[in-house]
Amino acid sequence: MNDKTKLGLSIAAIVLCGGFIISFVSSSETSADFPDGGTWTQCNACGEMQVIDPETRGRFYDDNPSQMGQPMVCPKCKKGRLVDGLKCPVNGCFYVQAGQMADGRPVCPKCKKPFP
Ligand SMILES: [Zn+2]
Ligand SMILES: [Zn+2]
Repeated sequence: MNDKTKLGLSIAAIVLCGGFIISFVSSSETSADFPDGGTWTQCNACGEMQVIDPETRGRFYDDNPSQMGQPMVCPKCKKGRLVDGLKCPVNGCFYVQAGQMADGRPVCPKCKKPFP
């Protein structure tokens, strides 16, 4: 193996390694804006369920300071207000507060299925 081949190989290794790091960093960035960071909400007018992330919420109150302290206006119909809640892990129902079974297990108040 001559010096030129060695140099070529080490450059290839650096490029591969760099590419790996870049793809790793960018993939961890995408997972940061995953809907998991937001809150499930349901509109009290159109009934649309949507995840509102803290950034969207912050922007809404920045743009509409007079709405501060009130629920966010639905971005879909612009009429209703968004009610904060949670999503049922069994059937994806929207609920505000989990119910309880006789044995104390949490249960979805909509479909009555106990949470896993
Ligand atoms: Zn709506
Ligand atoms: Zn449910």
